Amino acid sequence: MRKSVTIHNLKFMLLVSSRRIQGAVTNIAKKIDRDFKNQNPLFLAVLNGSFLFAADLLRKIKIECEISFIKVSSYSGTGSTGKVNTLIGVNENLKKRPVIILEDIVDTGNTLEAVMSEIKKHNPDGVSIATLFFKPEAYRKKIALDYVGLEVPDKFLVGYGLDYNGLGRTLEDIYALES
Ligand code: 5GP
Ligand code: MG
Repeated sequence: MRKSVTIHNLKFMLLVSSRRIQGAVTNIAKKIDRDFKNQNPLFLAVLNGSFLFAADLLRKIKIECEISFIKVSSYSGTGSTGKVNTLIGVNENLKKRPVIILEDIVDTGNTLEAVMSEIKKHNPDGVSIATLFFKPEAYRKKIALDYVGLEVPDKFLVGYGLDYNGLGRTLEDIYALES
């Protein structure tokens, strides 16, 4: 695996290996299997960034479950704009179903808060949150995160679904922008 990568003229350094990522995904899958047995939860993965996490997680989940997708956007370049746009909303009947949000990364929490309030309008039987990465230093909300894969420093990351202006999503490992 490479120690650094250059994307659109910015240099990123290796932060998390694909082995550690897969270990974190496996841990989340085991916990969800244990917590949601016989409940047929609906996973709602937040596009675009979470597509690889969702695919890998669902392959490790053994209980009965369903998956769908919502799409929001808040990032422009390497920073959050603070304004969350819903591009694809909830299309399923969530009434009385347990919902598990799948996020690639929780940063300020703005996106999560917007996604939560959108989902709650549909009266689900509880909403849980599973995020692969979490930046505790950047988090500004009080919403508790039920399943966290790995805590990461407050740096801009690329790889494993996360992009910098469209590129970098296919990297197997996670790289961090040097500040
Ligand atoms: P928040 O709203 O919590 O500030 O940011 C959440 C969303 O912004 C994430 O779902 C992700 O799509 C994007 N994001 C946050 N941090 C990063 C990062 O370090 N790298 C990339 N590529 N996207 C990020
Ligand atoms: Mg996201």
